[in-house]
Amino acid sequence: MNIPFSPPYIDQDIINEVVSSLESGWITTGPKVKALEEEVCKLTKVPQALCVNSWTSGAMLMLKWYGVQAGDEVIIPAYTYSATALAVLHCGATPVMVDIKDDFTIDVIKLKEKITSNTKVIMPVDIAGWPCDYDAINAIVNEGEIKALFQPSHANQVKLGRILVLSDAAHSIGASISGIETGLLTDITIFSLHAVKNVTTAEGGVICLNLPSPFNNEEEYNYLRRMTLNGQTKDAFSKSKAGGWRYDIVDLGMKINMPDVLAAIGLAQIRKYNSQLLLERKRIFDQYSELLSTYPWAKLPPQDTANIKSSYHLYALRIHDIDEQQRDDMINYIAANGVAVNVHFIPMPMLTLFKGLGYKIEDYPNAYKQYSCEISLPIYPQLTELQVDYIVKTVENAYQEVLKR
Ligand SMILES: *Cc1c(COP(=O)(O)O)cnc(C)c1O
Repeated sequence: MNIPFSPPYIDQDIINEVVSSLESGWITTGPKVKALEEEVCKLTKVPQALCVNSWTSGAMLMLKWYGVQAGDEVIIPAYTYSATALAVLHCGATPVMVDIKDDFTIDVIKLKEKITSNTKVIMPVDIAGWPCDYDAINAIVNEGEIKALFQPSHANQVKLGRILVLSDAAHSIGASISGIETGLLTDITIFSLHAVKNVTTAEGGVICLNLPSPFNNEEEYNYLRRMTLNGQTKDAFSKSKAGGWRYDIVDLGMKINMPDVLAAIGLAQIRKYNSQLLLERKRIFDQYSELLSTYPWAKLPPQDTANIKSSYHLYALRIHDIDEQQRDDMINYIAANGVAVNVHFIPMPMLTLFKGLGYKIEDYPNAYKQYSCEISLPIYPQLTELQVDYIVKTVENAYQEVLKR
């Protein structure tokens, strides 16, 4: 068998939607992007959703929108994809890393200890599609003492009057806590639509705006949309209409809009996300859990509770009592048997850029511990029951092979 890690989901409906964009005479930002934004609002119930060309650029835009700059601190987990920290660095601010809990999410007690008068934003990450403890995080930023510490230095900071909670929901579209969808759990939520994510546009991201009053989410959407288009008052679509040529540049924007031809892929996927694609992911996730629960060496990822529902983005299996080398050996054995697995994630303090900035993995012992025994198994709608059986058997063989040495 040869099982890839995460091929995109492409069916005839998706091909048809892309072809319809190609044949329409309009391929960059226009009606398909608008339709995708509407579908995201329908799925998550957020008041406003804005498509951009990646999660990373969306995060940079929102940090800039909140006036984050040199001297400011943004709290993030040490265990995430680097983009979480890179967006902060691009604004000149300092990523303050926090260790994680055994469910891979940011340790809320340690998070609170890291808050200073320079803290402007907290960026929790819903690793593998498992939502963070947002009840606790939202409560912390609203505590009197924490609010008193907050030093606003930008109009939007004055307006909010506290630390902004911006969730990295790159993995968690469709997850929920107590029936509240990701998107409504924090002030700002950003989904990634990168090729390996649950819903994809090849490259892309969606910013969900859920700002409390006195913010007007529709006004912020209009402002931010312009900021994705070089601060130009008219998008190319309206400018292309007869007589619509005059425009103005009113702000120093970025150029990070999503093209329609890519939005078409995500549009056809999201229409069948809740009714089909997410259910298929859950089917695979549950099959893994059922099969793996019979092996004493397997530590299963967090399982849905009555309140918390995952988006089943990754199956983050951990192996009890193995070290990093044994994990690597297991992956080599599994790969030699035709199954592509992965590791999510190499903690950022182990990567060259962050080591150079002075971060040390010794300061994040649980991030290292989880990383060293983690193997992400393939999970996507196209996987068959037989393939999942084969993957689990291959992992069991790998364990026996590596541990008997
Ligand atoms: C994929 C990913 C990102 C980056 O998404 P892009 O759309 O590629 O910029 C950010 N955070 C996490 C946790 C991710 O997995």
